[in-house]
Amino acid sequence: MRENVPKLYIVIPCYNEEEILHQSMDILKGKLQRLVQTGKVTSDSRIVCVDDGSKDGTWDIIAERADKDDIFLGLRFSRNYGHQNAILAGMLESRKAADCVVTIDADLQQDVEALDDFLAKYMEGCDVVYGVRNDRDTDKAGKKFTAEAFYKLMKFLGVDMLPNSADYRLLSSKALEALSEYPESNLFLRGLIPTMGFKSDIVYFDVKDRTGGQSKYTLSKMMGLALNGITSMSTRPLELIVVIGLFFCLLALVIFIISMIDWARGMVVKGWTTTVALLCLIGGMNLLTNGLVGLYVGKSYIEIKHRPRYIIDQAIWDGNDK
Ligand code: UDP
Ligand code: MG
Repeated sequence: MRENVPKLYIVIPCYNEEEILHQSMDILKGKLQRLVQTGKVTSDSRIVCVDDGSKDGTWDIIAERADKDDIFLGLRFSRNYGHQNAILAGMLESRKAADCVVTIDADLQQDVEALDDFLAKYMEGCDVVYGVRNDRDTDKAGKKFTAEAFYKLMKFLGVDMLPNSADYRLLSSKALEALSEYPESNLFLRGLIPTMGFKSDIVYFDVKDRTGGQSKYTLSKMMGLALNGITSMSTRPLELIVVIGLFFCLLALVIFIISMIDWARGMVVKGWTTTVALLCLIGGMNLLTNGLVGLYVGKSYIEIKHRPRYIIDQAIWDGNDK
């Protein structure tokens, strides 16, 4: 149980969100003010907008409002580093000032009213509170299917992850401090945070349609995220290669025995189709598995460089332009 009213920082990653950012900032500000009035958070709580290298007027909106209104803080990346890094930057930069941080998407598809539940769980003593969506009815059929398949695959690969958990979650400053110790470049927060432990709980929320603009998650961004999810959390695909290899060795043995019997009977030309088919199959498998190993080698190469995960070009933080 916690007793002191927490100082809350809400982090919103923004990438080309000029169409809806004003509206989202208004809604969040209204919500935060209500939380202050009802004594759920302190009056020096803040909303941190992280501009992930937008090409439109997103930063102008953030800068203008952060200059005028103390409740808004702004960070601007030097280029597009992706959603996960934007969330990470917002959280890490806030961790010294805030008692807890909630991350939420700029389109506010996630219900802001759930913030009360997040804070209630925090007051109960949780350091991590996961947001889990009630259903996927608002998703397009394709997205729903791929998301479900991905969560099933992750489970099969042995990754401890809450199905349908979103990057809508609360972390206490203690959990954020722990998160800052993870140096990985291939970031997949949904998989990583459960591995940290801590007292945690779940809050269920509804997902609405985007009110403006397009989804900023292009197919290639989505595939990149899924790939990072797999390669950063599990090495099971590499183990599976060994299993597949073993299977083909056994198959080869069986075929060898059959061929020897055929040879002994003087029926040597039979089996041409099998030979060609197996040749193709094994050739294909070879390329695929080598590629998979290469994928991990590539990811390790990126990790080993220890490059910064994001670079902040500009910051408007507590009235100062850093
Ligand atoms: N986003 C980001 N960087 C990117 C892509 C997206 O910061 O490269 C942000 C985006 O502005 C939004 C959040 O990530 O706040 C989720 O994106 P979106 O709503 O487009 O994804 P969807 O809800 O369609 O999965
Ligand atoms: Mg969205």
